[in-house]
Amino acid sequence: MRFDVITLFPELFAPFQSVGVTRRAFETGAVDLRLWPLRDFALDTYRRVDDRAYGGGPGMVMLVEPLVRALEAIRADQGPAQRTPVVLFSPAGRPLTQERVQRLAASSGAVLLCGRYEGIDQRFIDAHVDEEISLGDYVLSGGELPALTLIDAVARLQPGVLRDAASHEQDSFSDGLLDCPHYSRPEVLAQADGGEAAVPAVLLSGHHVNIARWRRQQQLSLTARRRPDLIEAARLRGDLGKEDERFLDSLL
Ligand code: SAH
Repeated sequence: MRFDVITLFPELFAPFQSVGVTRRAFETGAVDLRLWPLRDFALDTYRRVDDRAYGGGPGMVMLVEPLVRALEAIRADQGPAQRTPVVLFSPAGRPLTQERVQRLAASSGAVLLCGRYEGIDQRFIDAHVDEEISLGDYVLSGGELPALTLIDAVARLQPGVLRDAASHEQDSFSDGLLDCPHYSRPEVLAQADGGEAAVPAVLLSGHHVNIARWRRQQQLSLTARRRPDLIEAARLRGDLGKEDERFLDSLL
């Protein structure tokens, strides 16, 4: 899959191309990341990509024409068979969810448009943007972190990118619930107050059925406490079995 990113700050993407899971995604070719520096598509010699807003007020607006030229260059590079949807990052977009990430991960990619300043001229949005995505109800200074967030979340779902293919199947949200707690060595940890913190005994039992049941119950109780909305949604989807419901009842 490919991501074509239109940005004023392509240098922000470099660190992610050289570390960890995202690096593996790029090296294996699972994700093809192409950066399109918006200034290269400015119309004038000052490489101007923003201007004052009509109607007055503070802040600058990203100009339509450089954006159109950048998108044309991407379309020419993609060829007609490879056209991917244009995604704009915006606080006005739909909040990003793991479900959306999974659908994108199975697609051929997207053009990611990173806003800056007050945002971009509405006429570009009306004519060219297929979808607006928000990271949450807060305001960032640009769309680059949202783009990196989306690329990271999608990259780790590509086959062969995570070392252990099963590991994302038990992540939070992949089955609609939060993840269970994890433990590693040492088995018993000395505490500052003289006490000890031990790993839950079931995890040392070697009994796979009991371990799986304990983990499921941990997921259910954590999700019920922190995100009851996710329990309700899982129930509506029919994802909770009889044993899950019995366990949830026992928590009340
Ligand atoms: N005037 C805008 C904020 C502009 S912030 C408003 O009040 O809605 C500059 C850019 O940062 C935006 O164009 C967008 O691309 C990005 N951005 C800021 N907050 C974001 C969020 N919560 N989710 C996704 N993108 C965001």
